[in-house]
Amino acid sequence: MPQQPASVYLRHGQTPFFRLPVVDFAAAGPAAYAGADAIVIGVPWDASVTYRPGARFAPYELRRVSAMVQTYHPGHGLDVFTTLDARDGGNVAFPPFNAEITRALIEQEIGHVVAAGAIPFVVGGDHSIALPVMRALAAAHGPLAVVHVDAHLDTSTAEVWSEPYHHGTPFRHAIEQGLVARGALHQVGIRATWGGADEGDLAHEHGGVVYSVDRLADEGVAAVANAIYSAVGDQPVYISFDVDGVDPAFAPGTGTPVPGGLSSREALRLLRELRGIQLVGMDLVEIAPALDHADITLHLGAHVLFEGLALAAVRKRDRDAADE
Ligand code: MN
Ligand code: MN
Repeated sequence: MPQQPASVYLRHGQTPFFRLPVVDFAAAGPAAYAGADAIVIGVPWDASVTYRPGARFAPYELRRVSAMVQTYHPGHGLDVFTTLDARDGGNVAFPPFNAEITRALIEQEIGHVVAAGAIPFVVGGDHSIALPVMRALAAAHGPLAVVHVDAHLDTSTAEVWSEPYHHGTPFRHAIEQGLVARGALHQVGIRATWGGADEGDLAHEHGGVVYSVDRLADEGVAAVANAIYSAVGDQPVYISFDVDGVDPAFAPGTGTPVPGGLSSREALRLLRELRGIQLVGMDLVEIAPALDHADITLHLGAHVLFEGLALAAVRKRDRDAADE
């Protein structure tokens, strides 16, 4: 089902992601998502942050702002929402103060999306939500190639806070739980200071590649994207996009900002240049609307998500063309 015309959207006043149709909430389990190619779903959880909270409100605000994004992608030359049957899947519902229960409910709900044959596009929430999403995806696809945009490595240990699960640790668990294929973690925009000299060891020993902001500046974003594209080949790819990978000048609405990041233009180009990958899921996390100014970060987030949806649409178009 295509995007609703702006006049229709204005008339009914409801605000689904990208003016998309919503799923059948009366249906239980995977049936709610039957027939969809892509499900955009909110996970309004931010009780696992180490600094400023607020990301739990991103799904609601991103629905409002994403209505400004239209359906045709000039770069790829395709109508994303007629190529791809994308729907607003609502939010994962959970007690917003119990992390363990919440992780289980996220994994279950994303599992339903995957079981229905749809690609989940998950709007956080803080970055801790990526772990249960990857668990659900790896259960279906096997170990994933991961493109991780972030200022932070997110492979911290339990030593820091005496608690192993928070928004600074999802990729430590993902590696240790076998969710990430060896040599297939591609981390872009990394620049935050470390707690110690060994902070990068886990990902490095797993064959992960860090694409520093200096390498991005020296080689250009297209070259970095091409290196990632070549490396992932036809593996199932998960894109985990922490908005603090982007410079705070372009994305001020986030809880743990770090100077010196990607421009919004580089971030969007990076995603565009990945056209052809087998995208099986994506998250967009760490947008805290209360810290934003004039919706700058939200507008970026909406376009980041659209670029991800466009990648899925490109893949579907090319597959359909090959079948003919
Ligand atoms: Mn981060
Ligand atoms: Mn992160």
